[in-house]
Amino acid sequence: MLPDFRIRQRDYLLEISRAITEQLDLATVLTRILQSTAELLAGQAGLIVLREAEGRWVIRAHYGIPEPFLDYFKPLLADIPEHGDPKRFALPEVNRRLRATTETASLGLLHEVALPMVARDEVVGLIYIFRGYPTAFTANDRNLLASFANQAAIAVHNARLYQQTAAEKRRLDAILDSSADGILIMDTGHHIERFNRALARMTGWNASEALGRTHADVIQWAQRQPGPDLAQAEAGGWPLLKDPAPLYVEGDLLRRDGGYLPAGITYAPLFDREGRLVNMIANVRDITKFREAEALKSTFISIISHELRTPVSLIKGYAETLRREDARWDAEVVRDSLAVIDEEADRLAALIDNLLDASRLQAGALRLNMAEVALDKLAERLVEKFRTQTSAHQLTADFPPNFPPIIGDEARLTQVLSNLVSNAIKYSSGGQITVHGTAGPGQVTISVSDQGPGIAAPDLPHVFERFYRADSEQTKRVKGTGLGLFLAKAVVEAHGGRIWVESPAGRGATFFFTLPADLPRGS
Ligand code: ADP
Repeated sequence: MLPDFRIRQRDYLLEISRAITEQLDLATVLTRILQSTAELLAGQAGLIVLREAEGRWVIRAHYGIPEPFLDYFKPLLADIPEHGDPKRFALPEVNRRLRATTETASLGLLHEVALPMVARDEVVGLIYIFRGYPTAFTANDRNLLASFANQAAIAVHNARLYQQTAAEKRRLDAILDSSADGILIMDTGHHIERFNRALARMTGWNASEALGRTHADVIQWAQRQPGPDLAQAEAGGWPLLKDPAPLYVEGDLLRRDGGYLPAGITYAPLFDREGRLVNMIANVRDITKFREAEALKSTFISIISHELRTPVSLIKGYAETLRREDARWDAEVVRDSLAVIDEEADRLAALIDNLLDASRLQAGALRLNMAEVALDKLAERLVEKFRTQTSAHQLTADFPPNFPPIIGDEARLTQVLSNLVSNAIKYSSGGQITVHGTAGPGQVTISVSDQGPGIAAPDLPHVFERFYRADSEQTKRVKGTGLGLFLAKAVVEAHGGRIWVESPAGRGATFFFTLPADLPRGS
């Protein structure tokens, strides 16, 4: 038969190991350990102090000591020796201070025993047990406490590992969820285990719907660049080949709603320590912007080469003709030819200016030289100038008297208005063109209207985009780069105004823009 206290001791140890295995909440485990230890050693109170980050010592569990008295024990914590070799971890000074402390706090605690808690050769904390009656702790008590202290150390170690893993998992979850790229993690059978928010947005599948489905259910290509997709690469041995490179597949992903998304997916395998494939991670990138940039680049090249070639070949043709030594040109032919060369050179210069403006805009550097501008006078001058260039149109400027001046960049505003009037002439075969001005509270509105065929509804939202030209008969007939309205919009917006177009079917096009204006003086 075991002696009574041995049975109790065994029961307590069992109780503690149960607490350690069942409970991962550190505070609960420590409290249970402390309570069992104190009871077994017939102590009235106890403390567990743990070594935290940066070597600070903090009371993590207390038994039999009311909360307000804990402060008396805090000075003790500063004296705890730096942990070196745990086997030689001595606490004489601490014990002396402890005695003084229990006396000061008049807790009536007369004897104490304190031992380090050692796990994996590291002191993770200290355990103190106090007695309130005059029986000192024996060597046997100390041995017993040592085994409890080490149990507690294991619990602390485990709980910390668990906390670290949980924190790491939370961090990983946050990274996955906040990633702008779509991320899909699947098992070796292609069953989806993780599906982040960005991917839900891209594919139209909810994470909860995607989980448990297979990769092939969710990732379907409407169209794919040459090269193997995941299934084909796996049939060829990927990723179990020696030194497999990540697999990249690009194309148009079929969205759940039937639409598609230009995307590039990089697949990477995840192996365990034994080299077994455990997961496959797919990183999905939305390449819409990249495709747009590519498309813009090719539009740019085709427009520019066309627009540059025409004036250059005209200039060259006329110049070559004039230089022919076998021909004598009369004065009129020479004058007309030189006029064409002059106009075409102007067109080239204007085109280059527009391109420079567009690239400056892209770099975010459109500078305005602000001064007072009389828009009514400016419009009249422009109308006057354009009248000489067309006989098919009637041009009028229609401004109320005392039209308020505004503060703006006159050269840039002339560019905007010229572009709108020249478009009105270019895109209508004849009729009335009116530049109209109205002054409202705080702003002026200028409009340019024509009686041409107007702009079809599908083109309306796009005419201010860079390089956009409507797909219409009258647009095909005239030259252009699709930069004029893009630049006009940038200039108006840089002034703090707004630009838009209205084109009711069959009733021409009217472009409007507003500019901020001071309230009429004296009002
Ligand atoms: P560009 O005239 O060089 O093509 P813009 O940016 O000035 O470039 O105009 C963009 C497109 O808007 C034109 O190609 C044309 O299709 C359309 N557009 C502009 N103004 C008019 C208008 N007054 N009537 C009809 N279509 C117009």
